[in-house]
Amino acid sequence: MAPPLCSACASAPAAALRPATRTPVCRACFIAQFEEEVHATIVSASLFAPGDRVAIGASGGKDSTVLAYVLGELNKRHNYGIELLLLSIDEGIAGYRDDSLMTVVQNETDYNMPLSVVSYKQLYGWSMDEIVKAVGLRNNCTFCGVFRRQALDRGAELLGATKVATGHNADDAAETVLLNVTRGDTARLARCASASTGLSGDRAAGDEGEVSSLPRVKPLMRTYEKDIVLYARFNRLKYFSTECTYAPGAARGHVRDFVKNIERLRGDAVMSVVGSAEDMHVVAPKTTAPKLGKCRVCGYLASRPVCKACDLLRELDRKLPGRRAESASAPLNNSEAAAAFDARKLVVERAGNASTACGGGGVCTNEVCNKA
Ligand SMILES: [Zn+2]
Ligand SMILES: [Zn+2]
Repeated sequence: MAPPLCSACASAPAAALRPATRTPVCRACFIAQFEEEVHATIVSASLFAPGDRVAIGASGGKDSTVLAYVLGELNKRHNYGIELLLLSIDEGIAGYRDDSLMTVVQNETDYNMPLSVVSYKQLYGWSMDEIVKAVGLRNNCTFCGVFRRQALDRGAELLGATKVATGHNADDAAETVLLNVTRGDTARLARCASASTGLSGDRAAGDEGEVSSLPRVKPLMRTYEKDIVLYARFNRLKYFSTECTYAPGAARGHVRDFVKNIERLRGDAVMSVVGSAEDMHVVAPKTTAPKLGKCRVCGYLASRPVCKACDLLRELDRKLPGRRAESASAPLNNSEAAAAFDARKLVVERAGNASTACGGGGVCTNEVCNKA
């Protein structure tokens, strides 16, 4: 049976179904719709201003790869007048981050955006592999979340960026909304569905109460994960699709399954969950913004005398006291980090002469290579 015709142009055969409405669309119309939807989010939430220097948190995964590509396209088409930079965080997870960084190196060439890399090891003296060895697999996501948030900020500041853009999508947002419901955290519930934080001077805190020094924007916040995968495939974008070696926390895993199951019954469930949280803005209790100062230990922005990252580093020191001598147990301050900020070379060396995103090693874990 021939495929149905595209519901938008009514001339080309449909190549996909939109997840929310299940309407058939052809490849060209899908790409056009996708890009205009992202543009609409950017415009309606005033995410960018001319002259912005935007550091894209680039992990090599599908979300940030699509984000970099689509922002490049839209910036040209709609004259945003912004400068786009790729910023990667090397958590130090062998076999996961090493490989995904190769994809980012490829993106630098393909999208013509300069890439910089900061590593946990550089900033904190610990790689994630070393942290997991010390604390086990129970709390590792807490460490990683706090360190990554601060590392993105510090990297972006070193690049002179005015904003940080991340690839969070609607499915991520729906999970976070439901997690906050199960925690009864109504204050966070109201703002976790927003496409930006910090744009109007409000310093939104992350899951562990840490703060960001630069505004965060999430242009894919109204975009379904399924659409992102499709957009990447239709544009033959190279990305790295292996899950983090240290799987997500148990609670998020359950919520993720729940969202996927309910989406099978209702195509628009994801966006409904996100929309509900947005509407709840009006009933959320007024919270007082945390008073910001400088961390006593590292001098970085903090809402408490000692920042969350330094707190966690102290915990690591308690677990492995002998290690203090061999590694910096306080994070580098920004001038020290600036001196160590030539990690870009490190990635290029690691990438070696890999010709494909997966390294061309034969055991390809890259979804694009597998399916193309
Ligand atoms: Zn069409
Ligand atoms: Zn600190």
